[in-house]
Amino acid sequence: MGARHIPESAAPTIVWLHRDLRLTDHAPLLEASRRGPVLVCFIWAPEEEKPWEPGAASRYWLCQSLSALDRDLRSMGSRLVYRRGPSLEALQELARETGARSVFFHRRYEPALSRRDDLIVGKLERSGLEARVFTGDLLFDPERVRTVAGGRYRVFTPFWRACVESEHQPPKPLERPNALAKPSRWPRSPSLGELGLEPAVDWASGIRADWKFGEAAACEKVRRLRSRVRRYDELRDRPDIEGTSRLSPHLAFGEVSPRHVWYSLSGGRPTPGRAALLRQLGWREFAHHLLCHHPKTPDEPLRSAFADFPWRTDARALRSWQRGRTGYPIVDAGMRELWGTGWMHNRVRMVVASFLVKDLLIDWREGARWFWDTLVDANLANNTLGWQWCAGCGADAAPFFRIFNPTRQGERFDPDGAYVARWVPEVGTAEYAPPIVDHGEARKRALVAFDTLAA
Ligand SMILES: Cc1cc2nc3c(=O)[nH]c(=O)nc-3n(C[C@H](O)[C@H](O)[C@H](O)COP(=O)(O)OP(=O)(O)OC[C@H]3O[C@@H](n4cnc5c(N)ncnc54)[C@H](O)[C@@H]3O)c2cc1C
Repeated sequence: MGARHIPESAAPTIVWLHRDLRLTDHAPLLEASRRGPVLVCFIWAPEEEKPWEPGAASRYWLCQSLSALDRDLRSMGSRLVYRRGPSLEALQELARETGARSVFFHRRYEPALSRRDDLIVGKLERSGLEARVFTGDLLFDPERVRTVAGGRYRVFTPFWRACVESEHQPPKPLERPNALAKPSRWPRSPSLGELGLEPAVDWASGIRADWKFGEAAACEKVRRLRSRVRRYDELRDRPDIEGTSRLSPHLAFGEVSPRHVWYSLSGGRPTPGRAALLRQLGWREFAHHLLCHHPKTPDEPLRSAFADFPWRTDARALRSWQRGRTGYPIVDAGMRELWGTGWMHNRVRMVVASFLVKDLLIDWREGARWFWDTLVDANLANNTLGWQWCAGCGADAAPFFRIFNPTRQGERFDPDGAYVARWVPEVGTAEYAPPIVDHGEARKRALVAFDTLAA
């Protein structure tokens, strides 16, 4: 059936999803639902995300999250339609098959996707379709946050002050549509299984055991956070205690929006715990601001002096780090937590990153790649900021010469050794491998390497 046979009021609006797998606070979906029939689609096109196509843990989460969203849509009498890329062709085909005249979606900030989306908008419009891009996956629009002189921020504190003081509050989250009208007929769709997101060999039991997927689980976590957030500032650095929100994969896949988290925690008496958590959401904003304005940073240091850093190539050491066999208990615990559950505590992320970059002198990009493949919350903006921060080559980064002592970090943040005992049970026995480097020597070597750079 061609577009011209369908009266305008019956033409569906295509809502094209990406990392916004929710029904609440979803501007494209709400706006589409107010116009008439809605066709919600997900297009699997990893080649368009290169060189940062979703890693293995992300693909697994994505699959579970899509399945949860499809269930939620079906409970409203709708459904999710899947397609394979190329995205432009898939959208045009869907429009031809259903008579849709409009495509709505959220803006994406990853450089490859943002370039692709600009092209797609132009081509859709030239073919007579309406394309509307909405913001809504960040608290503040990164284009609008500017220094007094009109420039971009490279330091977090003034950036965040500008967000919360000049822009005041982020926009309120939008409601969930009450109903979704169906298109006159559903277009064909492969099944979710046919997209091939799930691994052939099931390695994901640890992820399944630790996480619940989808919007309902994410919202439930936010609800529970309201009573826990009071002590966030005291507990957030302790990997042995569940002191942080663990919202990162839910935010990474847009199962819940940051505005929803923000407003769920607002109201009532302000507490240091709440302020500290909202400030972490500020780091997420800052990361996206940087990625938007420095799109090469996933692959290049922001501080160009680091382009010539004398990194070592050491496949064995890299492998020991990846597998949690460095002989440093806190590093090994973190790397095994990551391998087992797809997540690692922020403090430990900093310790393992510092160990790779400074003790082993291995390029931060090797670490960023490993995290990208193994994290369930892999997010290009946050991962890039985290790695460049730890390597000392990013915006507002920890100076390279400040080198964590992994033993002291363990004593300080895992004082009873409970975290290490959980992930490295053989610690303290003859089975535990000796350290692959001596920290004191490695520290000296790192400082010499840094001096060659500064000279
Ligand atoms: C080397 C390195 C790599 C990282 N890679 C990622 C990544 O790929 N994806 C990711 O979401 N986070 C990344 N982080 C940031 C941080 O470690 C995680 O967001 C955090 O551990 C998630 O746990 P949580 O949800 O309990 O965080 P909470 O402490 O409860 O914070 C709430 C939310 O704020 C945001 N947030 C918190 N800390 C940061 C931060 N430092 N930078 C940006 N946003 C932050 C996250 O969305 C998080 O879910 C990385 C940090 C480092 C040091």
